[in-house]
Order: sequence, then C-alpha cells, then structure tokens
Amino acid sequence: MSADTPLQKEPESSQNPPVDGSELIRFDKVTKRFGSNVVLDNLDFSVDSGKHVTLIGPSGSGKTTILRLLMTLLKADEGTIKVNGDYLTHEEKNGKLVPAGEKHIREVRKNIGMVFQQFNLFPNMKVLRNLTEAPVTVLGMSKEAAEERARDLLELVGLTEHIDKYPTQLSGGQQQRVAIARALAMRPKVLLLDEVTSALDPELVAGVLDVLRDIARTTDITMLCVTHEMNFARDISDAVLMFDKGRVLESGPPEKIFGDPEHDRTREFLSAVL
Ligand code: ADP
Repeated sequence: MSADTPLQKEPESSQNPPVDGSELIRFDKVTKRFGSNVVLDNLDFSVDSGKHVTLIGPSGSGKTTILRLLMTLLKADEGTIKVNGDYLTHEEKNGKLVPAGEKHIREVRKNIGMVFQQFNLFPNMKVLRNLTEAPVTVLGMSKEAAEERARDLLELVGLTEHIDKYPTQLSGGQQQRVAIARALAMRPKVLLLDEVTSALDPELVAGVLDVLRDIARTTDITMLCVTHEMNFARDISDAVLMFDKGRVLESGPPEKIFGDPEHDRTREFLSAVL
C-alpha cells in the first residue's frame, strides 16, 4: 500500500485536521503522583503531526502513564496536555481555563487511538464487527462505509481471510493486528502503542511489528510508542525519548540515542536490553 491509497484519500471526519508539522501532542509541566510516588515530574514534551516517537527507559519510569493520561484513563495532578490544538485536560469557558468536562474530553479523545498489550477485542463479535462497531455507534458512519473501510484496514494488516472469525479463533498476533486495524478504523490522528508485542509468543512478534512498520511507512498517522523492541524503535522512530524517573533524560534521533547517547544511564539501559 502506498501513501496515496484510498485510506489517506478518504475525507477527514468532523475533527479539526492537523496542520502539517504542527504539534499534535503537547505536555506542559505535567506532574502525576500516586500517593508519594512522583511518577511524572514536571514533564514537558511534544510530538509533531506525522512523526513517530518512541518512549524507552527502565520499567517504572512513567512511560505507560503518559499513554494512560492521553487516553484519559488517568488524570494529571498538575500541568496541561494538548491534543491537536485543544486542551485535553482543560476547556475554555468565558475566557477562563477550567478542568475539562466529560463531553469536551470525549471530543478531544476522538483524535487518539490506542493499542494495548492485551488486545481487548470484543470477544462476542466477529472481526468485521470489531472494526465497524465504534465507527458506526460513535462516529455515526453508515454501516456500508464502515465495512468498506474495515475491509481496507484488514487488507493493510494482512487479515482479509479472517473477516468472519471470532477473536478466539485467531492467534495472539492476529488478534493484535485486528486491534491495530480497529484503532485505525476510528480515524485517529495519533496511534498510541503500549508494548503491543509484550504479551505475544516470540514467533508472533515479527508479524505485528512488520504491520506497524508498514503503517509507519505508508500512512501519515502520528505514532507514540512505548516499546522494548529496540530494533523496531530504531527503524520507525523520528525521535526517541529516554525516560528515567518520570523525566526525559535525553531525546534525539534514533542514530544518536542508540549510537552515541549523552548519558551513562542511557548506555546502561541500552546495554541491558539490546
Ligand atoms: P513504565 O511504563 O515506564 O514501566 P509506568 O508508567 O507503568 O512505568 O509506572 C510508573 C510508576 O507508577 C511505577 O512506579 C508504578 O508502580 C506506578 N503506578 C502506575 N500505575 C499506578 C496505579 N494505578 N496506582 C499506583 N501506582 C501506579
């Protein structure tokens, strides 16, 4: 599939289209605590539209918390998060910034798709319906349009022949590829990937990573990934952010972070995982 296939040509949904090169995600002085544990510490970072950014770092350094804040599964204690130019954490009322209400959060969150470690497919629905359910019920797409898009996406992830199966009839790798297609079916601006291969048997990992490489190469979607797959991170990333203790220890293009990191801590981490 090339960059000018129908997947890219279809009209945008009602959400604001991102401006090329604009910031799609911005964290501004975000702090998140669990009790006395400061998990994210005054964190600033941004992801530009169309870029692929990978978060690496030791377990417990706060990477997954970032994705969970973006999915509004958690709330920041301090700071602001913007997605596609709108505050996710706040909304403007009478010229003032107030904590965001549910309706505002739902609208801004439409820009975001997420794939989890555990695939979380709807077990009682066949593959096709797993892909069409939310576009029809949440975005108001017609069943026909949703099914057409679902077929395109199943082709993208190499699962066309499994369209009429239930999730349990598929391997873990195939289920994860359905989950990726399902996230894309909602036409998000950004795809969040949370260690999407870590629950898979080793022989199934490559197929999922290949699909993601393909999506990174052939679509204009922005990606924010947490991964322990360093070769994958090196291949797809425009930028790699090395986390330590809830802060970005260093960031840069993959050649720099993997080839010539600034910090000993990064070098130690990489030598333990590579
Ligand atoms: P990473 O993804 O880098 O491994 P996480 O973001 O998952 O790190 O976790 C960061 C820290 O936050 C860890 O110390 C973890 O124990 C803690 N944490 C995460 N979720 C919760 C929670 N729901 N309640 C309490 N502590 C949590």
